[in-house]
Amino acid sequence: MIPISEALKIIERETRLLAAEKIDLENAVGRVLDQEIVADMDLPPFDRSQMDGFAVKSSETKNAPVRLKIIGESVAGKGFGGEVNAGESVRIMTGAPVPSGADAVQKVEETREETGYVEILEAAKLGQNINLLASEVTKGARIFERGEIVTAQMIAAIASFGYARIEVFKRPKVAILSTGSEIVDVAETPRQDQIRNSNSLMLKAFADRICDAHVLPLVADNVESLRKVIENAVRDYDVLITTGGVSVGDYDFTKPVLRELGAEIFFEKISLKPGKPTVFARLNDCLIFGLPGNPVSSAVTFYLFARTAIWRMQSAKKPELKRGFAVAATKLKAAKERDSVLPASVATNEKGELEIESLRFNGSSNFIAFARANALVFVPQGKSIEKGAVAEILFL
Ligand code: AMP
Ligand code: MG
Repeated sequence: MIPISEALKIIERETRLLAAEKIDLENAVGRVLDQEIVADMDLPPFDRSQMDGFAVKSSETKNAPVRLKIIGESVAGKGFGGEVNAGESVRIMTGAPVPSGADAVQKVEETREETGYVEILEAAKLGQNINLLASEVTKGARIFERGEIVTAQMIAAIASFGYARIEVFKRPKVAILSTGSEIVDVAETPRQDQIRNSNSLMLKAFADRICDAHVLPLVADNVESLRKVIENAVRDYDVLITTGGVSVGDYDFTKPVLRELGAEIFFEKISLKPGKPTVFARLNDCLIFGLPGNPVSSAVTFYLFARTAIWRMQSAKKPELKRGFAVAATKLKAAKERDSVLPASVATNEKGELEIESLRFNGSSNFIAFARANALVFVPQGKSIEKGAVAEILFL
């Protein structure tokens, strides 16, 4: 049995990096940058008005009210070409360039207009209502780094600097294969002794956000069919994720078939509950994750291992789940001989604390409870986290 940290090291060591490709920015969310994003211009690119109003020399408004001549206007997209001199002002709109000579904008509500003149009712302070040239970003500044995962919130910043197309790492092609003679398709009505396939669509839902995932047809606990499917899958995909058939039962054929095919098996027993029999192997150039069949076990091991590998293949700088801390609402207990990673629901309580409610009240097959999970709680082997104590969590 190896610890989780060791398993992650092995995954890091065995994961090869994929090449890059250029894509449209509109498809970039969830992709990993293979380039820096650099500001190609100052922002704002000119002294910009934050208000609709009048551009003035602030010193002239000190003894407001004061009457100034309107000598022109500055509109967003078309500034006023000339200069503001003593006794003058320029009508200005939000987003328009502040004309030279002016050093403040008084908003329209603080002014009264007469033909050709404006009365500034309140003194304008130096710099008031103006975003100065380059006050947000200077040309040449590095905005994002290679290895960052593009989020929806980043798009405006990237778009501002003209990256209509960007270099990102290719996504791995990932196959999902559920195995088990008792498993039937979701659309079918299970006969006696059968259950529906919940793993394939669950894993596809997890994986779709981070790679190109395809669900393969179900395969029964049968050495021949399993061998055929795996042989084909490793030819066509970068990663194969299987579920079921990795324990020590008489019909658990995943490992025997991998061995027979000559796969290199890197680990097959992790000090982890749930997920102890998780297998990590490689055949040809395809990484194989053999996850336990139990839906909650497959979910936890997908998040801890397969997901990390999929991000690593894309050179993501931070492939792990985001960490945080929260208070245990109930006592959380680990297994005696294994570290436990418990699916949990984390929410803010009345005291304003982030609080963990463990969801594994009914054993690891409880995927109904798992449906409410938004985090995993790590509890070291043999230890417990008392009610009210702070625990480390990983956000799903
Ligand atoms: P196994 O890992 O094959 O021993 O399966 C462990 C448990 O998970 C058994 O109760 C299986 O019936 C169940 N199971 C296996 N594969 C799936 C699947 N694709 N969908 C739902 N449950 C599954
Ligand atoms: Mg089975």
